[in-house]
Amino acid sequence: MNPAGGLRAVVAQLEGSRIREVANEGLGREGVLKFWFGESDEVTPEFIRDAAVASLQAGETFYAHNLGLAELRQALAVYTDGLHPGRGAAHWVDRLAVTSGGVNGLMLACQALVEAGDEVVVVTPIWPNLVAQPRIMGARVACVPLKVQASGPRAGAWTLDMQALLDAITPSTRLLIVNAPNNPTGWTLSREQQQTILAHCRRTGTWVLADEVYERLYFADDTGNGAASSFLDVAEPDDRLIVAHSFSKSFLMTGWRLGWLVLPASLTQAMGKLIEFNTSCAPVFIQRAATVALERGDEVTPALVVHLRHCRDTLVPLLQAVPGVSVATPWGGLYAFFQIQGHDDCLEVAKRLVREAGLGLAPGSAFGPEAAGWLRWCFASKDPLRLELGVHRLNEWLQRN
Ligand code: PMP
Repeated sequence: MNPAGGLRAVVAQLEGSRIREVANEGLGREGVLKFWFGESDEVTPEFIRDAAVASLQAGETFYAHNLGLAELRQALAVYTDGLHPGRGAAHWVDRLAVTSGGVNGLMLACQALVEAGDEVVVVTPIWPNLVAQPRIMGARVACVPLKVQASGPRAGAWTLDMQALLDAITPSTRLLIVNAPNNPTGWTLSREQQQTILAHCRRTGTWVLADEVYERLYFADDTGNGAASSFLDVAEPDDRLIVAHSFSKSFLMTGWRLGWLVLPASLTQAMGKLIEFNTSCAPVFIQRAATVALERGDEVTPALVVHLRHCRDTLVPLLQAVPGVSVATPWGGLYAFFQIQGHDDCLEVAKRLVREAGLGLAPGSAFGPEAAGWLRWCFASKDPLRLELGVHRLNEWLQRN
């Protein structure tokens, strides 16, 4: 009898989520401050919810086009052109595929590109799904760890060793997966770094899968209108590049499960076929809501980013003042990523913080072995006082331990 019950070995060996493991510790416990998942505690804006309700009321309960509703694709094309101007919206329409969440888009990209036995390079620490997905396709995954700056004004920040990354990407590398702004570290890529990576991947014939779901959650200025540099800004239309996006983060729509991919136009029809065999299409009423979210996005994202920056600027200095804690200010994303001196077993620490302090954080080891000993705190809190209370609980717990 096969111990894995006949499953493919790679599926049988999939690691459960360590973030879930910590969250399960909180089941049935009252009053835990939950900062473990990557989402805001703010409900999706009402006008977006209304659009979904109106669609359902109008009886839009049927299958739709594999690649997404024409109206949504048009709105996405305008949105993409606004962020990456120069080519015009019409250029982008043929390069878009609507997916059932960012995670589904990333899996579709892996299905489209990765053969069993292929070599895939991933820059880590990273959201664990991005390592599991190529593995599920049978890839050999090689991780290139970011490095922590030991001193200077950015002490505690994670940065890329560009030469180590370029050395790891050879003509036998099928795919590079990179997520910037990064979950969990807040690390971002500069335009020059993106150019260097892309130029190298052109030479080696390597595809780039860029997870840019945090593109808009970038704290460059206090208008909330900024965006992190994107691979789309440096690439040609036929470059071997797929960019993954999501409605989850910039539009407060985590539970809706909607995202999109930007692809070379030559891949779009094949991606439509893959979508047919995965989900067939995203639900129409969700797509209607997303169309409105894009059309009235100026009412959501800039204010959200300004608020998130305020959350970050509330949390990080408070954490920096906790004895033993080292944390750098993240440039983008939703997370403060930090270490506590003398508390290296982060999974155990995270579980104990839930049980003994009522504080819910994610363990760094969920994001790669190099992040063992770190903790991730999602600062997307509607009420920043919750963040202050959380630090208070952490402080008290540390004094007892
Ligand atoms: N990429 C990264 C880096 C993420 O952190 C997440 C969500 N945690 C996603 C993709 C997927 O987002 P969703 O499936 O909700 O669109």
